[in-house]
Parts: sequence; C-alpha cells; structure tokens
Amino acid sequence: MGGRQYDAVVVGAGVIGLTVGVCLAEQGLRVQVYARDLPASTTSAVASAMVEPSFSPGAVGEWERAGITTFTELAGIDGTGGTVRRGRLAARNTSEPLPGLDMCPPEERPEGFTMAARATLPIVDMGVYLDHLGRRLTDAGGRLEQRVVTTLDEVAGEAPLLANCTGLGARELVGDPTVRPVRGQQVVVTNPGVDEFFLSSPYEPEWTAYWPYPGRVILGGSQGMDDENTEPDPELAEAILSRCRAVEPRLRDAQVIGHQVGLRPSRPSVRLEVERIGDSRCVHDYGHGGAGVTLSWGTAREAAALLLAGSRTAV
Ligand SMILES: Cc1cc2nc3c(=O)[nH]c(=O)nc-3n(C[C@H](O)[C@H](O)[C@H](O)COP(=O)(O)OP(=O)(O)OC[C@H]3O[C@@H](n4cnc5c(N)ncnc54)[C@H](O)[C@@H]3O)c2cc1C
Repeated sequence: MGGRQYDAVVVGAGVIGLTVGVCLAEQGLRVQVYARDLPASTTSAVASAMVEPSFSPGAVGEWERAGITTFTELAGIDGTGGTVRRGRLAARNTSEPLPGLDMCPPEERPEGFTMAARATLPIVDMGVYLDHLGRRLTDAGGRLEQRVVTTLDEVAGEAPLLANCTGLGARELVGDPTVRPVRGQQVVVTNPGVDEFFLSSPYEPEWTAYWPYPGRVILGGSQGMDDENTEPDPELAEAILSRCRAVEPRLRDAQVIGHQVGLRPSRPSVRLEVERIGDSRCVHDYGHGGAGVTLSWGTAREAAALLLAGSRTAV
C-alpha cells in the first residue's frame, strides 16, 4: 500500500467508523482511527439500539438485511452485546399488515393502536458492542487515537485510503449542510421483568417504544429536528414514561435510573461515495440518521469495498 505511515485512516469512532475500521483491519490493512470523541461518548453509545426490520427497497433494503443477518449471528457470541428478542411493531394510524410478519390478534394490540405485528429482531447493548468493535479493531492490528481532524487534507498524507465516518461532524469537516441533528431523548428504568420490545411507527407525535436489557429497560421515543440541546427535558421524560406505561403496565413499578439524549446525524440519504483528497482515495460514510446501528455493517462493507476496489487501480 505504498510508503505512507498507514494503509487507511478512518475519521470517527462511532458505530460507523469502528465498523469500517474493523472491515479494513480484518483484511490485513494497517488502520489508524482518529476521533474527537471516544466510542463511549458518541451518539452511537446512546442508541437504544434495535436492528430495525427491513421494508426499504434498493440499496437501503440490502444494508438493512445485512444488519439483521450480521447482528443475528453476533447475538450467539458472548461479549458482543447482541441478543435477539421477540416483540411487537405497532401503529396508531394504519391497519395495513406489515409484509412477512404475523399480525397480532386484537387482544394483543394496546389501546389506541390500529395495527400490531409480531417480529423477532436483534437488539444491541451499545456499550458492550462498541467495546467489542474496539477489541476487534485492535486485535486486527488497528489503532484508535483521540484527535480532532479539521480537514481531510490534514490526514491525507498519512494513508492512501481515508474514510470519513464523522456523523453529525461532517457538517463542519466537509461542509455538508444537508446533515442535520435530530434530537432523541430516552428514559432508562429498572427492568420489572419485561423481555419483549415494543416499537410504534417512529416519528409520529405519540411515538412509543421500549427495549428490554438485562437490569434495565430503555424507553423512547422522541425526535426534535435541529434541536441540539443535550440536556434531558423533564416534561418530555414524563410523557415518554406515561406512553410506555400505558402499553406495558409492568413499567409502572419500574424506577427511573437515568435519562439519555443523543443527536441523530440525519441526511436526506446516507452519503456513501468516493472522492479524491490530495493523493488519497476517500470514502464518505455518514448521515445514517436514526438507523446507524441497523445500517452499519451493510454500509461499512460497501465503504471498504469501494476503497479497496479503487486502491488497486487509482491509488
Ligand atoms: C436516542 C437514539 C436512539 C437510537 N436508536 C437507534 C436504533 O434503535 N437503531 C439504530 O439503528 N440506530 C439508532 N439510533 C441512531 C444511531 O445512534 C446513529 O445513526 C449512529 O450512532 C450514527 O453513528 P456514527 O458513527 O455515524 O456517528 P457518531 O456515533 O456520532 O460518531 C461520530 C464520530 O465521529 C467523530 N468526529 C466527528 N467530527 C470529527 C472530527 N472533525 N475529527 C475527529 N472526529 C470527529 C466523533 O467524535 C465520533 O467519534 C439512535 C440514535 C439516538 C440518538
């Protein structure tokens, strides 16, 4: 890969940057990851995180299916933070069946919902999972260093291959005005014995969701376009609690043990494309919005393939 210090530099150490780093390092490349925030302080660490069902057409549908398959495989391996759980997907404004899923009988539909279907999907404990990715990166010879990168040119001299996985940071790093924050707030409660998830149609005003983990349940959801306030809003927390308790009465006995807020890196579509920066070939992989965990493996494998295919001829 030439005489530079590394074969690849990845900027960003959320779920996207770490997954791209793992894909490249596990193919034998010398990978350096630079990140302003270390994994535990990223948006990725705040994700619930459910690997969402695949209903999208085209490339996004393929990335979604790659996520479901890979996270289902990881769920069988200790220390990954992955598990597979049964639960319900529901909506208040449609009775249209969800393709490929078993519809719930009316008695399993919470009050106010017009549709509910059963699904079995992976759920990821992000703290454990980001540690797992970090270990895989270093086990494959990759390195992670805390560093703010102000322009991609600044790191182009270090490696022939670059990956820009800066999420919301791409607004400043590459001046992309289409990347916008969507604030998400969640309430964390003790787990009174809940072992199934519940997810209503995201982004409706009364969006209701909960995801069980060992010892805790994460309750959502919320979305605040262009809201960058990372302090929890107590009124919103009460509304989330009350909506979730209406669906799962056992949550009335749960104690609140935390609040978390994250800014989803939304964009009209994920940016996954190659650009030449100085003498390096750079792949941009950012703008995953509320589905970065779900899309991480599909987009990271494609990002790595784009870099490596080009590197044989262009770099
Ligand atoms: C409340 C909430 C719930 C969610 N639930 C789900 C879910 O259930 N399922 C799902 O799939 N997704 C979910 N998401 C979405 C998911 O969290 C994001 O899509 C994903 O974390 C984005 O990952 P990322 O690596 O692109 O960004 P981030 O995790 O934000 O990481 C970006 C990295 O880039 C670094 N960086 C930025 N700029 C620079 C710079 N100039 N120099 C150096 N480093 C830089 C940052 O420091 C960080 O390390 C949720 C999000 C929120 C907020």
